Amino acid sequence: MPHLFCHDHPETLILETTVLDARPGKVLLARSPFYPGGGGQPPDRGVLRWQGGEASVTGFEYASDKLWHLLASTLEPSGTVEASVDPDFRRTMRQLHTDTHILNALIYQAFDGALVTGVQMYEDGTARMDFDVPGADNDRIRALEAPINEIIAGDVAVTFGYVPLEVAQAQHGLIRSRSVAPPPTPDGLIRIVEIVGLDRQACGGTHLTGTGGSPPLRILKVDNKGRHNRRVRIGLVGSPAAG
Ligand SMILES: [Zn+2]
Repeated sequence: MPHLFCHDHPETLILETTVLDARPGKVLLARSPFYPGGGGQPPDRGVLRWQGGEASVTGFEYASDKLWHLLASTLEPSGTVEASVDPDFRRTMRQLHTDTHILNALIYQAFDGALVTGVQMYEDGTARMDFDVPGADNDRIRALEAPINEIIAGDVAVTFGYVPLEVAQAQHGLIRSRSVAPPPTPDGLIRIVEIVGLDRQACGGTHLTGTGGSPPLRILKVDNKGRHNRRVRIGLVGSPAAG
């Protein structure tokens, strides 16, 4: 995965940039504010605008490490364009993504370093996380809702940095799972996201800069998925599923 602008600037949703290449239905930009998806976070959506035209951005594809923006139009923009991320969608994803780290941290602490086996966030303000927690009491998982909300209410700072891949691999718990850890950057670095004082882990998604940017969270459901795995469904308060 190339280094993404949105990693360093998750709040910058509109960028003026130039078209490097265009084909019917897709375009390559010099810079992009979009998150192309990965690690359980769905891709951003949004719009490109240029003199005399605009087109919705519907998806992304990598070719030779270059990020193509897929357009809902066969127009081929050129020159200067304004790339604009859907702000509501990005906000929901940053909230959910940050909250999955809080849940992950508390499960990791409460269940002896239990690892994530899968995660998926949804547009409706809910997410599911799967954990490898053999024999876990589901009531103990449900009881994490209160401490999660204390951390949200405490508006704990969320920061990021980069460490060499070997360092990340050597430090237990930094890479929680193959399914959520980002591939290294071309120069061999892994992005580490920290909820200060609570959790550090490798991640390539978009997060809040403080946990207080999230509404309170509900644990909606805990399901057994086989003897080892628990599936935890969470939802942001205010989303249809969480009320
Ligand atoms: Zn993350």
